[in-house]
Amino acid sequence: MPILFYLKGQFVLKVVEIFYSIQGEGIFSGVPSIFVRLHGCNLACSFCDDALHVGDYKSYSFYEILDVIKDFPSKQIIITGGEPTLYDLNEFIKFLQNFGYFVCIESNGYKFENVKNADWITYSPKDWDNIKKEGWSEIKFIVSKESQVEKIVNFETNKPFFVQPLNLFDKPDFENLDFCIELVKKYPFMKLSIQMHKFLGVR
Ligand code: SF4
Repeated sequence: MPILFYLKGQFVLKVVEIFYSIQGEGIFSGVPSIFVRLHGCNLACSFCDDALHVGDYKSYSFYEILDVIKDFPSKQIIITGGEPTLYDLNEFIKFLQNFGYFVCIESNGYKFENVKNADWITYSPKDWDNIKKEGWSEIKFIVSKESQVEKIVNFETNKPFFVQPLNLFDKPDFENLDFCIELVKKYPFMKLSIQMHKFLGVR
């Protein structure tokens, strides 16, 4: 699996897109944030929107990324994918922090040591039989009405615990949402994360 690529004397990252929007998930829902989406994933989930990480990408040096993001008013940055922990991002995270950024990572838990310098790590495990207990800041389970939720209702943590309805691509799935609402009502240690951006019709 790749670490960072070294090109013309600089480390570069494979970037699918960079954009400014509202975080719609988890503890920072509603926070204006810069999104950096990296290329590639170690998994191939059936519900994945592949276009988000298997399509075209551009190689960016750290300073080229800074040049794109520096005029956005928010200092909250979310590195997502794909699976960002395919890459050793610790130097990049420190680089961003030196410019005042609060760096969040969204990960399926592939290799947390590759992002250990991050300020916040959102863990969204896809293999519910092998959930990692450490290395993350909040946990978020993607749940549909067919999910075997008995695998997660006894998971013990004092960190923020979210369930989020499985939504396909850019639209909310209201049946999965209803299922998740009933789930958090039954197990109130869980919180609901709804992908707010899909309801607002923003990216
Ligand atoms: S872990 Fe996420 S990015 Fe990777 S295949 Fe699954 S849904 Fe897609």
